[in-house]
Amino acid sequence: MTTPTIELKPSANPLSAAEREAILANPGFGRHFTDHMVTIKWTEGRGWHDGQLVPYAPLSLDPATMVLHYAQEIFEGLKAYRRPDGSVATFRPEKNAQRFQSSSRRLGMPELPVETFIEACDALVKQDQDWVPAHGGEESLYLRPFMIATEVGLGVKPANEYLFIVIASPAGAYFPGGVKPVSIWVSEDRVRAVPGGMGDAKTGGNYAASLLAQAEAATKGCDQVCYLDAIERKWVEELGGMNLYFVYGNKIITPSLTGSILEGVTRDSLLTVARDLGYEAEEGRVSVDQWQRDSENGTLTEVFACGTAAVITPVGTVKRAGAEWQQSGGEPGEVTQRLRRALLDIQRGTAEDVHGWMHTL
Ligand code: PMP
Repeated sequence: MTTPTIELKPSANPLSAAEREAILANPGFGRHFTDHMVTIKWTEGRGWHDGQLVPYAPLSLDPATMVLHYAQEIFEGLKAYRRPDGSVATFRPEKNAQRFQSSSRRLGMPELPVETFIEACDALVKQDQDWVPAHGGEESLYLRPFMIATEVGLGVKPANEYLFIVIASPAGAYFPGGVKPVSIWVSEDRVRAVPGGMGDAKTGGNYAASLLAQAEAATKGCDQVCYLDAIERKWVEELGGMNLYFVYGNKIITPSLTGSILEGVTRDSLLTVARDLGYEAEEGRVSVDQWQRDSENGTLTEVFACGTAAVITPVGTVKRAGAEWQQSGGEPGEVTQRLRRALLDIQRGTAEDVHGWMHTL
């Protein structure tokens, strides 16, 4: 099967520079979209075809389109950053492309070649590069590649037609007023994913399943939910949209990939960045009881969450049924801040890219 090249059919009416700048002055997150999108089709027997860059526009779908009924959908999230010399680069796009393939396998969908995934992201960022915020702050252009089952019919089976799309949305600084710790509700009765399930795939269903627990966290006055393993309800897994790290002095530990945790690109990068900075970095198991005990006795010095959106977020207040504690006195810890700065400097091009992680256009 051949890999499509992307045919460019740009918009005759993109937003004016003034309209775009007005959006970029206060983009928020996921509220505004650039002038274009890339679409590629897949059909049984034909493979990937009709790669196009077209004006951003609504989709027209038959009400019986399979994705609307059986949720055969996967997505990714990655960012393009403006560098000091004005060029634009994405962060480790091949990791997102590989995770997209592994999500496809789990949901019985066709695998988009890694190079096609990157080519599609590059084509969109190149076309809409004026939408990448200026260098200097923490703003970026967030890319959202996704794929849906487009066969029409109500039989439950893997579809024989799919549509891959990439859209882009300017993203403001996650912490416009300075890094602020998040509060966490540890959910001991609801789980996000089960062994053998699809917790390690980036598919909409996992996020739908997390919304009720997220609403419960809000009623407890917390920003985010921390999920435990589904069997023992004991081992810390991750947050609804971020991985977790535990800092014991000079050592950082993140929960091992059990199959029910999403393998974050930020999580993976931090294992390396931390070692570069002289910390010990490990994957392992941390129980919620250990978390509470070690916070209270002071050996667990910091906890932080990590993901593409916020890069690194310190954890402040932690609540579980019958207990509540303050991590690091509720302030962003020193290791958390140092790692955050080191990774952001690589992403924004102000530190040397020693691992070759930045993909320039
Ligand atoms: N876990 C979940 C459930 C997520 O949705 C995300 C965001 N993609 C992450 C972890 C962090 O992954 P990444 O560092 O690749 O953004």
